[in-house]
Amino acid sequence: MPNGYLGKILWINLSNDSFEEEELKDEVYRQYLGGYGLAAKLLYQNMPANIGALSSDSLFGFFPGLLTGTVAPFSGRFMVAGKSPLTGTWGDSNCGGYFGPEIKKCGYDAILIKGMSNSPKYISIIDGEKQILDASEFWGLDVVQTEEKLTEMYGKVQVASIGQSGEKLSLISGIVNDKARIAGRSGLGAVMGSKKLKAIVLRGNQSVNISDKKELLEHTKLYNEGIRNATGGAIEAYKSMGTTFGNTISFQIGDTPCKNWGGSRDDFPDEKLNKLAGTEILKFKQKSYGCFSCPVQCGAILKVPEVGLEETHRPEYETCASFGHLLLNDDLMTIFTANDLCNRAGLDTISAGATIAFAIECFENGILGLDDTDGIELTWGNSKAILEILKKIINREGIGDLLADGSKIASEKIGKGSEVYAIHALGQELGMHSAKYYKSMGASFAFDPTPGRHTSATLDMLAMGPIIKPDGLFEGIALPRKFKRAGEERSEAEKLVAGLWQSFNSLGLCEFSAFFQQYPLKKLIKAIVGWDISMEEIIKIGLRIQTLRQAFTLREGVDIIKNNISDRAVSIDYLEDYKGYCEKMGWNPDNGYPLKETLEELNLNFVINDLY
Ligand code: SF4
Repeated sequence: MPNGYLGKILWINLSNDSFEEEELKDEVYRQYLGGYGLAAKLLYQNMPANIGALSSDSLFGFFPGLLTGTVAPFSGRFMVAGKSPLTGTWGDSNCGGYFGPEIKKCGYDAILIKGMSNSPKYISIIDGEKQILDASEFWGLDVVQTEEKLTEMYGKVQVASIGQSGEKLSLISGIVNDKARIAGRSGLGAVMGSKKLKAIVLRGNQSVNISDKKELLEHTKLYNEGIRNATGGAIEAYKSMGTTFGNTISFQIGDTPCKNWGGSRDDFPDEKLNKLAGTEILKFKQKSYGCFSCPVQCGAILKVPEVGLEETHRPEYETCASFGHLLLNDDLMTIFTANDLCNRAGLDTISAGATIAFAIECFENGILGLDDTDGIELTWGNSKAILEILKKIINREGIGDLLADGSKIASEKIGKGSEVYAIHALGQELGMHSAKYYKSMGASFAFDPTPGRHTSATLDMLAMGPIIKPDGLFEGIALPRKFKRAGEERSEAEKLVAGLWQSFNSLGLCEFSAFFQQYPLKKLIKAIVGWDISMEEIIKIGLRIQTLRQAFTLREGVDIIKNNISDRAVSIDYLEDYKGYCEKMGWNPDNGYPLKETLEELNLNFVINDLY
C-alpha cells in the first residue's frame, strides 16, 4: 500500500444499488493530491457536460485531502464536490470535523455517488461491510436527529446527512457532519437530496501508511508547540473566540457588509455592533471542540437556555454577519437560534441570511407587501420576523418557497426591479467580506470557477497572515514586493496564491492555519507520503487544479468573464484585475479560457478537445 493515501476510491450507484472500487495510479495523486484536486480530475472525466446538476447523471462525492487521516496539524478537512445546481458551475464546499478522516479509515481516498434512488436511502460502510439501506424512517428528520438515530443503531460512527432543506431541494442547502459541520456552499445538499440519499454512515478500522512516522511526529510536535505557546494574536483569538473574534473588528475596518451590502457604519452603530462581539458570545461557551488533528480547536459548544438551546454550536463569523450586520439585527439570541435552525436543516447560513436581507429590502421598498410575506413585517432588524421567514424557507412554505433557492432565483420570480437587491455571483450569495476592503475578492467573487466564495484564493485576505513575509508561511515562498499595487507583480502574486491555495486545500489543510505561523509543508509531505517535493511543484499542482476547475465551469457553457457583481460589494475594476491574473495563469484574458499550451504544460491535454 502507498503512504499517505490508499490508492483506491469507491463508486456507489444509487440507481442499481451497486458498489465498485477503483484503483488509481500513483501519478494521479502526484498530479492532483486529494480533496478537490482529485475531485476535479474524477468529476471532469466521468461526468458528461451540460447535464442537470439534480439529474440522475449528475455525480458528486466526498474527498478527504491527501494528508487527511494523519496527525499532521490542521489536516482533517475534506471537500464535497459536484456540479453546483445554484450556479451551474463547478461546485465544491470544504468541511471539517471527523467525517473526512473516517473515509480514509474505511479504506478510500474518495467516495463518489452516482445514479438516483426512487425512495429514501442511506449508505452504511461499517467495518468493511457496505450496504444501501432504506431511509424512510429518517426522511424528514433534521441532521442532529438523523445522526443520533444512526449512532443508536451502529454505535460510534461518523455521519454526513442532509436535513429538511436538502430533502426539499433547496438550492442553498448543504451536507452536515458532526451535527453542525456543514459543507454549506454550492447547493450540494440539493444534489444529495435529488438522489434521495439521506445519509452516509461510516466506521472504518484501517490506518494510513506513513513513510516516516518519527519525522511526522517530530514536525507535528514542533509545530503544535508553537501553537500551544503562542500568546496574543490570531492563534489566541481563534482558540478562545473562533472566527467570531472578527465580529466587531471586521465591521470597523469596513470588511463586514451591512444592510444588504448597502449600509454604512452609521446604520449599525457601536451600541448595536458590540452586542455581537465575540466576547459576548464567549459568555455562553461550555467547551471547545474542533476538527481531527487540529491544535487550535476553534469551535465551541454553547448553552443558551434563554432560547431553549441546551447544547448548540457557536455560530461562525459568517453566520453572525449574515444574520446580524447584514440584516441590521443586533439580537444575539436570534443569531444563535438561526444558526441552530440552519445547521439542523442543512441550510447554508451565508445564503440564507443574505436571501432574507434581499427580501427585507424588497419589503422596505414596496416590492413585497404583507400579502406576499404571509403577513410578516419584514423590516430591518426585526429579529422575530427573521426567524419566522427562516422557518418558512426551511419548510418551503409560502414566501419561504420563493426564497429557498437564493436571492437570484427569487428576484427572477418577483421581477419589479428586485434584481438590484439580489447580491450574488451567478446565484450564489457572496461570503461576508467586502471586496471594497479586500480588493482581490472582487475577481474571486465574480470569476472563480465556483463564484461568490470568500474562501477562494484571494490575495488580499491571505496577506493578513504570515505569507506577507518572505518564508513567513511556507519556506522558500515570498510574495512579489509590489503585490499591493495594480500591475505585473500583483498579477504574479495572484497566480502564486492561486497555486498555493489549491494545493493547500487538496492536501486537506484548514485555511485558517494560513493566519498562524510557518507551516512545514514540504517536511510533512515528505514524512507522510515520502515525496521529495519542491514548492515549485506544489504550486504547479495547484495551478493544474485551478485550471481544471476552470475548464469544468467553461465546459458547462458558463461565460464566466461576463459575470458581474453588484457595485455595492466591489469598488475597483475587478475585471482588469482578473485579466492580469489570466495572463499570468496562461489563460486567455478575453474569455478566461486556458490556452492550449497551458493545458499541455499542465498535463491537461484531455481538456483541449472540450474547449477548442
Ligand atoms: S482551526 Fe477550526 S476549522 Fe480549522 S481545523 Fe481547527 S477546528 Fe477545524
